[in-house]
Amino acid sequence: MRGIDVGHSGTDADVVIAGAGPTGLTLACELRLAGVDVVVVERLAEPSGESRAGGLHSRTLEVLDQRGVLDRFLAAGELQPVGHFSGLYLEFDEFESRHPYPLMILQSAVERILEEWAGELGVRIRRSCAVTGVDQDASGVTVALDASDGGPATLRAGHLVGCDGGRSTVRRLAGIGFPGTEATMTALIGDVELPDLPEDYVWIRRRAGGDYSAIAFEPGWHRVITSEYDRVVDRDEPVTFEQLRDSLVRLAGSDFGMRNPRWISRFNDAARQADRYRSGRVLLAGDAAHIHFPAGGQGLNMGVQDAVNLGWKLAAVVRGTAPEGLLDTYHDERHPVGERVLHNTRAQSALARPGAQTDALREVFGSLMVFDDVNRLLRTMLNALDVRYPADCGHPLAGRRVPDADIKEAGGATRVYELLHAGRPVLLDLGAGVAAVAGDWSDRVDLVEAHGEDDAWPVPVIDEVPTPTALLIRPDGHVAWASGPGEPVDTVALRGALTTWFGAARRG
Ligand SMILES: Cc1cc2nc3c(=O)[nH]c(=O)nc-3n(C[C@H](O)[C@H](O)[C@H](O)COP(=O)(O)OP(=O)(O)OC[C@H]3O[C@@H](n4cnc5c(N)ncnc54)[C@H](O)[C@@H]3O)c2cc1C
Repeated sequence: MRGIDVGHSGTDADVVIAGAGPTGLTLACELRLAGVDVVVVERLAEPSGESRAGGLHSRTLEVLDQRGVLDRFLAAGELQPVGHFSGLYLEFDEFESRHPYPLMILQSAVERILEEWAGELGVRIRRSCAVTGVDQDASGVTVALDASDGGPATLRAGHLVGCDGGRSTVRRLAGIGFPGTEATMTALIGDVELPDLPEDYVWIRRRAGGDYSAIAFEPGWHRVITSEYDRVVDRDEPVTFEQLRDSLVRLAGSDFGMRNPRWISRFNDAARQADRYRSGRVLLAGDAAHIHFPAGGQGLNMGVQDAVNLGWKLAAVVRGTAPEGLLDTYHDERHPVGERVLHNTRAQSALARPGAQTDALREVFGSLMVFDDVNRLLRTMLNALDVRYPADCGHPLAGRRVPDADIKEAGGATRVYELLHAGRPVLLDLGAGVAAVAGDWSDRVDLVEAHGEDDAWPVPVIDEVPTPTALLIRPDGHVAWASGPGEPVDTVALRGALTTWFGAARRG
């Protein structure tokens, strides 16, 4: 499906995105779905092919489902009913999400599928183009490029979004601070062959100096990770196969015949966050806005979710249906989410440190995790199923992700996420009779009249709520306003929510 181009004059694009990683590609797709003209500029000539992230979490699977592209990812990965908090197992609950399990899929595959989708939507991607300069004024942003693709060396756009990773050039050029905590350890990671490993799978084995694991992810291939504490290596020092082998020998007493490295990298537990996600016409998303220990595999997932929060807002501002101020809600909503992830990864890093005290702490923590309330708190936090944005509505669903409940409309049975494929807001009328209100926003908000198939809807953290009578659902799947059974529909509040999120009514 191709988006519909909105007009733009005197610019090369409505929006320039720096970086064709998972965040930049997701954002580009979201903007194109809304008809925005977008150019992605990427420093690399080809995708790096680095495997990096190993999984997509429940909420990411849900947002891909909301766009109708989830099947592509499911076909390229494998669902695994295990998760962990600092290596301690978490259980999942099928009641909380239609996609309760993480999908094991390498980042390279995620990027390939996103790039294919972006191509279908008509996203322009310029490779071998690195952002080197940013100059914003009242009417737009001029982006200077080190371009060897034969295209122009400057681009003029309404907005620039830096999705250019943890060492973001855009962030630096925009003068946005990146405070946080320093690394206290060094981890090495490699996709290698381990012919002498006696087991298929080694899950975090703790030793005096740190820990190691070796996880089979493809026939014949293992992902080896070694973590050594109080050994902090300069981040610019090259990573070598010998370093990985030496580290494994130090921790495991053997290199298990390690050979044929396909990819080797290094990471640590430094945790930093941009102090502002927006500076005028320049915004940040993904690793450009936050870096942290990859414990629990939250980084890529959070970047995709940043993009889904920002996309529809930026599109509305570009189209002129919402004021620039809507973009501030991107910072207001996503900065606390990032802050909380930094917090939980710091906790996971602390729980992973070697030593008798931490061994004891892990045992105590692990014994708490068998209690369902503790397990639920941790799994919904790591899977971002409990994220609740501020909302001026007292309904328990307001601000939360909408459950993917079964509903029946005139065309037959469907489910809520099917309604969000176009990336447009939906006013779902389940008997409240709000069609008259919807008419004033019919150019921007889709009205769907249906009835609920279930008596109650599952909501992580609060178990369930009675089926609502009406819901205003944002394109990112969060509930802007809801009305419950047995209460009069507050049309003033509904009009207020429509105006806040989707701009003024067409008339009156
Ligand atoms: C070892 C490891 C394991 C991980 N495991 C997980 C996991 O299991 N789950 C998870 O969710 N996350 C995981 N992560 C984190 C995850 O890899 C990142 O969070 C994710 O890549 C962030 O995506 P992004 O698009 O924001 O940034 P990136 O993937 O870093 O993409 C940024 C892009 O911008 C480009 N770029 C940089 N500078 C410029 C410039 N000046 N101009 C133009 N382009 C530029 C880069 O070439 C790159 O393509 C892991 C990370 C590591 C290192």
